[in-house]
Amino acid sequence: MVYRWRCRNCDFSTWSASNETTAEAAKSHLIKHYERNIRTEDFGVAWSCPYCETEQRGHDKEQMIQAFKDHLFGHVEPLLESGVHVADDIGRTGNILVNAPLESTGADNARIHFLAPADVCLFVTTNPKRRIELLDEELSEWPAWSIIITTKSQPMAGIDGIDFSTVPLEVVQLNKSLGLSSLGETVARVLDENESTSGKISMEIDILPEIIAKFELQDVFNFLHLFTSRSERAGALSHYYFNPETQSESTVNILDQVFDMQINANGSVFESHS
Ligand SMILES: [Zn+2]
Ligand SMILES: [Zn+2]
Repeated sequence: MVYRWRCRNCDFSTWSASNETTAEAAKSHLIKHYERNIRTEDFGVAWSCPYCETEQRGHDKEQMIQAFKDHLFGHVEPLLESGVHVADDIGRTGNILVNAPLESTGADNARIHFLAPADVCLFVTTNPKRRIELLDEELSEWPAWSIIITTKSQPMAGIDGIDFSTVPLEVVQLNKSLGLSSLGETVARVLDENESTSGKISMEIDILPEIIAKFELQDVFNFLHLFTSRSERAGALSHYYFNPETQSESTVNILDQVFDMQINANGSVFESHS
């Protein structure tokens, strides 16, 4: 079960798998809108609610802030919804940029959230071992069909405890020296093979940092433009992983224009500001 809270004062949304965690993320956001309602006084701290007549003062600052957060949230608790999916916001089809370090709990939680509803899972990754292990550990059963596209040599090396003769998995190896167009062609071919017959497609793209490092930004932009429209035509939900902290501002700005939605994935909490 996933919960969502959406701010009605701005574009902020937050999601998590727990009611309490979502409420805490909502409270931390909400109080930022009302910092002016908190005053430091001789004896400690006082706050006044912007929605009602309530005021409170006390000398324990932390306690007063928590009481204010809890009180504010009481006014907007009905905005907390359950049984949602992050991709509901874009009709469950389209392209989402997940801002998180690639190998992090936040990124893994987003991967599972976006892969779990799909029948066909397609990965473009240089870390097939971790992705296969994640699917195997976190999903109650394997998707009907999974395809891994990778430049990694011996992509299944080092994976223990999975009997690959019983897993519906295909591995497509790409030559490292090939350019963006052959990557695009390979993915397009895999989409062609799967889009009509096999149900909902979820596509995980881990290689954004690699292609940004290797190719001109304008070429990356043009490629992503073609690539995202191709996956949208297939009715796929595509999720791209990217750590904005390791990238230049111009790269971040260019990517802003490509995606239907962006989330920050931090531990078990997802947030969006648009
Ligand atoms: Zn807000
Ligand atoms: Zn109030």
